[in-house]
Amino acid sequence: MRPILSVILPVYNERETLGALRQRLIPVLDAMTSGNFEVIFVNDGSRDGSHHLLNDFYNGDNRLKVIHLSRNFGHQAALQAGLDFAGGDAVVLMDADLQDPPEVLPQFFVWWREGYEVVYAVRRKRKEGLVKRAAYAAFYRTMRVIAQIDVPVDAGDFCLLDRRVVEALVALRERNRFLRGLRSWVGFRQIGVEYDRDARYAGEPKYTLRKLIALAVSGYIGFSTVPLQISTWLGLFASIIGFLVGVGALATKIAGVYSPQGWVSTVSVVLFLGGAQLLMLGVIGNYLGRVYDEVRNRPLYIVGSRHGVFAAFGSEDAAVAHAAKTSQEAS
Ligand code: UDP
Ligand code: MG
Repeated sequence: MRPILSVILPVYNERETLGALRQRLIPVLDAMTSGNFEVIFVNDGSRDGSHHLLNDFYNGDNRLKVIHLSRNFGHQAALQAGLDFAGGDAVVLMDADLQDPPEVLPQFFVWWREGYEVVYAVRRKRKEGLVKRAAYAAFYRTMRVIAQIDVPVDAGDFCLLDRRVVEALVALRERNRFLRGLRSWVGFRQIGVEYDRDARYAGEPKYTLRKLIALAVSGYIGFSTVPLQISTWLGLFASIIGFLVGVGALATKIAGVYSPQGWVSTVSVVLFLGGAQLLMLGVIGNYLGRVYDEVRNRPLYIVGSRHGVFAAFGSEDAAVAHAAKTSQEAS
């Protein structure tokens, strides 16, 4: 039987939180769906024993399903693995570290029942450092300006998606995924629900600064070509300045005013142009790298083993692919 609700939880070294998460989440889901739900833990290559704990969860309650990825593929890929295997009429994406409180899920459910296909959570306030908060704010606001889609400000991946939206997302196989951007891109009726994002229950954030920057770059590059156009504007700007400087030099010459043979201006122009060129080479390289990435067409993740979930469409399950291949060869 198809569950009403699937909850997807990417797990990367969250041993200390999983017990508390289970205790808080399951009663909420039970009350919402009279027991007709599934939870899919996507173990994103944890090395801290989360693996065994999750298997124990499944053995105790087969609604708590597990997908073990073959290594750490990153948060976005883990979410995608969950989406590929989720069977529910509605699917919730949330963090496994209890920063996304399970208690707001009934509210999501109400909006979904009202007919909204996407219900996403909007953070009222963040319990994080000033620098991180400022960086997030800057990112969402610049995204809004340069992206060709409307990514809601301060909305993360925490959301509920209708089956139809899940199917649309599963069909998009681009590699450098920025799920909250894709979620906006697919359309449908969407609504934001405000909530207070809690502090992490235990352990360190698993998103390193590097991973966060990579995610932000995926957002910019995946949804905007404005960075590619910067060079046009820089070039235009530089040539206008150059032209004005030239006119100025000519005017002082004609007027017979003494003008110093300054090297400072020369050097600054050279540095400016050189810098702009290097910057734009970097930008182009970034896009090119992504094209290369897409062309290779590697799977988004590889499933090592799984418990309780069956191959869904769009799934990239090495075991299933292998089975299909061998049965083909046999026949
Ligand atoms: N996570 C993951 N793979 C990674 C990094 C993180 O599956 O490579 C999971 C992590 O276990 C957590 C969620 O993604 O459930 C969010 O990670 P984190 O709390 O570190 O991010 P933050 O809340 O700081 O944005
Ligand atoms: Mg977190």
